[in-house]
Amino acid sequence: MINDKTAKKLKKDFPIFKNNKDLIFLDNASTTQKPKQVINAIKEFYKNSNANIHRGVYKLSQKATEKYENSKKTVAKFINSSPEEIIFTKSTTEGINSLAYTLPSIFPNGKNEIVLTEMEHHSNLIPWQQLAKRKKMKLKFIKVKNDFTLDMKDAKSKVTNKTAILSVVHVSNSLGTINPIKELIKIAKKKNTLTIIDAAQSVPHMKVDVKNLDCDFLVFSGHKMLGPLGIGVLYGKKHLLEKLQPFNFGGGMIKKVSLENAEWNSIPEKFEAGTQNIAGAVGLTEAIKYIKKIGIKNIEKREKELMKYSLKKLKKIKGIKIYNSEKNTSGILSFNLKNIHPHDIASLLDDYEIAIRAGHHCTMPLMKKLGIFGTVRIGFYFYNTKEDINKLIKSLNKINKKFN
Ligand code: PMP
Repeated sequence: MINDKTAKKLKKDFPIFKNNKDLIFLDNASTTQKPKQVINAIKEFYKNSNANIHRGVYKLSQKATEKYENSKKTVAKFINSSPEEIIFTKSTTEGINSLAYTLPSIFPNGKNEIVLTEMEHHSNLIPWQQLAKRKKMKLKFIKVKNDFTLDMKDAKSKVTNKTAILSVVHVSNSLGTINPIKELIKIAKKKNTLTIIDAAQSVPHMKVDVKNLDCDFLVFSGHKMLGPLGIGVLYGKKHLLEKLQPFNFGGGMIKKVSLENAEWNSIPEKFEAGTQNIAGAVGLTEAIKYIKKIGIKNIEKREKELMKYSLKKLKKIKGIKIYNSEKNTSGILSFNLKNIHPHDIASLLDDYEIAIRAGHHCTMPLMKKLGIFGTVRIGFYFYNTKEDINKLIKSLNKINKKFN
């Protein structure tokens, strides 16, 4: 269990809080801070084990290769897959783009529709818009209801025999809504539709089990879960990855090459052309170890508690409008204050050393649907405390007084 006391103790693992004594960091949905264990693992890698992987016969290269392969094992275990189903990418964005390039190679005949939701991050929207334009496919969107959850009736009617792909965000980065992806995947399976889960905001905060979900693909970013920037994960079911064409070509992904032709390596190397972010993988391993030490269930519980606490307090602020479902929510919420632009709130909060995000949060179509320019967004992680929330509320009240 994590309470304020343990959260404060855990915060000590994060040098950023030592170096920025008054910092209240509530922008964890953008990126999380990094514990010293992750920072040190990366430093140690460059100091003691740095070499390129797979190609060297010398000891140092073997050491680096082992670390990289171990990272795959750690990630695989964390989401209940096997290491060969794990492809390292740069980020969630790169994972989705890669799929958008290569998935048409396995589309069943006669399917020409892509189903998304109205709450997708631009990263899970624009790649599909581009694919739709290239391949003359049709985009469809599952509606978001007034309570900020998905309209499941609409989902059932939008996914048809023509649907090639259903790509859905697990947890909305703007609203915090936890979508019923297991149910959505079941709907898709009945129509022989490929399923992709944008798990950028779920894997860091709750137990995600790809076998239990039965999704075909799932993507997430290391930097949103204590890991370094520039490393992400693309999970794919083995039999699908084996059928898929690679999306990058070059060194490391081949079995045999002639001047005219090339044969691909087996999975996952087939999808990892060129030198990989080995230090990033090492950092991600340590991040997952750290999360496991605390316990992902404890993290989920802690965020729920912080959410409940802050919702209760925020609701009392004069002129506040909250964009959050309250029922199926993760540790993210959006709000606006009457007569104050979200950017003004963000910059005034910065004067109180409170880091939050304001704007459209890369979900412009969702903002348009809500009839707003943008929101102020809070995103918790386990190291946040009720004290952080109290300071936020106090500062918001002060800001409110200036404008209203
Ligand atoms: N999807 C969601 C739901 C996100 O929150 C984000 C990051 N804000 C992304 C995709 C993109 O992640 P990245 O920038 O790490 O590629």
